[in-house]
Amino acid sequence: MNRTHHPCTHCETPVPRAAGYCPGCQTKLCGGAPRRLYLFALVAAIAIGAACASALPATEPWAGWVIGLAALVSAWGLLDQLHVNRVSFRRNRTDRPD
Ligand SMILES: [Zn+2]
Repeated sequence: MNRTHHPCTHCETPVPRAAGYCPGCQTKLCGGAPRRLYLFALVAAIAIGAACASALPATEPWAGWVIGLAALVSAWGLLDQLHVNRVSFRRNRTDRPD
């Protein structure tokens, strides 16, 4: 796979990774992991933090939230790494609902 250009899924024009829009058809480029995965990681981290906070001794309730925050940062970093080469082309929300 060419890492610097991606063919547009709508018009086949090679589009530079850094471009925000396809020069051929003006389709918007979106990179990285889908936003719903970041949201899912956030919800999971809150759940982990809450679970740890209740499981830990009451004298250190903050420790659970530190664990949850660490889980969140790790998950988001992992999502970035897994989707570093992902580029999606979106015309607009009404054409292609996500
Ligand atoms: Zn295009």
